[in-house]
Amino acid sequence: MDHFHFRDGVLHSEDVPLSAIAEAVGTPVYVYSRATLVRHAQVFRAGLAGLESPHIAFAVKANPNLAVLKVLAGEGFGADVVSGGELTRALAAGVDPAGVVFSGVGKTHAELVQGIEAGIGQFNLESEEEGYELSLIAERHGRRVPCALRVNPDVDARTHAKISTGMRENKFGVPLDRAAEIYAALADQPGLEMRGVAVHIGSQLTELAPLEMAFEKVGALIVELRQRGLSVTHADLGGGLGVPYRKGDEPPTPAEYGAMVARVTAGWEVRLTFEPGRVIAGNAGVLLTRVVRTKRSGNGPPFVIVDAAMNDLMRPAMYGAWHDFDAVTPSGERTTAHIVGPICETGDTFAMDRETDAMAAGDLAVFRTAGAYGATMASSYNSRGFVPEVLVDGDRFAVVADRIDPAAIMDAERIPEWL
Ligand SMILES: *Cc1c(COP(=O)(O)O)cnc(C)c1O
Repeated sequence: MDHFHFRDGVLHSEDVPLSAIAEAVGTPVYVYSRATLVRHAQVFRAGLAGLESPHIAFAVKANPNLAVLKVLAGEGFGADVVSGGELTRALAAGVDPAGVVFSGVGKTHAELVQGIEAGIGQFNLESEEEGYELSLIAERHGRRVPCALRVNPDVDARTHAKISTGMRENKFGVPLDRAAEIYAALADQPGLEMRGVAVHIGSQLTELAPLEMAFEKVGALIVELRQRGLSVTHADLGGGLGVPYRKGDEPPTPAEYGAMVARVTAGWEVRLTFEPGRVIAGNAGVLLTRVVRTKRSGNGPPFVIVDAAMNDLMRPAMYGAWHDFDAVTPSGERTTAHIVGPICETGDTFAMDRETDAMAAGDLAVFRTAGAYGATMASSYNSRGFVPEVLVDGDRFAVVADRIDPAAIMDAERIPEWL
């Protein structure tokens, strides 16, 4: 459930008509609903009610906006970060360092140092090599840092290939059949406190079965580690729960997910961590855009050209993803159209042959479910700027990220004097 709804024929975010935001801030603009973020955070936590003190670390890459992170920190969430930049943001937003988990296959020396100096709660090691490097740095800092070993369970998450992370051929984690040996070797390192295992098999998962299969493999690994006399007090089950992008989609609910987790992890005797991203932020945001013009195309449906493009919302171009597209003030008339952006790439297409509200130049519309992997994936391709972000709270709203004009991006470029 989200707080984007029609009132008096106008699409609102909470109590704010989106037309008021477009007027004040211009388009395109991302609009997030605080009440929706809070609700999703609470529903996710409630789904885990059967577990003892689970730790929930929001996957910052899904939506790294400082205001969004602050809302979630206020709900007691930690942060799952995958870069030094995300760590800096999480701390700036008020996330407790002890609640930060640092994931990622390519943490640099500087990022490992940054994590140690910040006193983060857990490093998720993605290779044996990373463990040795982290141990040396930790020793130099006179520390022993808490770590989990990320395993690659080799299960097919049955999601889009570009967001599947738990198959043998994916770059993430260590192979399950070597995990015990690697864990044992790392547990001997003086700078590391090996305390558990981590798994994350992919994103936008619409079935629980692949997750359950992965968790069962993690459970078997925990037994094996303990049999070898190794200590395991924590397990990180990652994120990945899908969201409905299309009316009628019914991905598993947090309650169903939580019940499955409680069943599979009964008897593990560990503290569990979760790293949800999309399921918290996805339906808490829309990309508000304005129709530039419409264009006839031979005998086919017309093109509706909007002022948002693939650089602002990459998912359709990158994954062929579906985003519902609705007029902000629908007339009631329906039509079939191709929805495209202005960028000079055929891939800059949001939808082909989409049944949608009839729209004309100047009309406002939204791409729904754009709160996760939206603004965060933006680029300035075609020398377009970066879209601003707005957070709504009841009947008020604030710009929580400024629009960055193309000229400001150009200001960072130099022509050498010898040219
Ligand atoms: C991306 C990512 C997540 C979040 O995935 P969602 O599908 O957004 O829940 C969690 N953990 C790790 C390690 C990730 O890379």
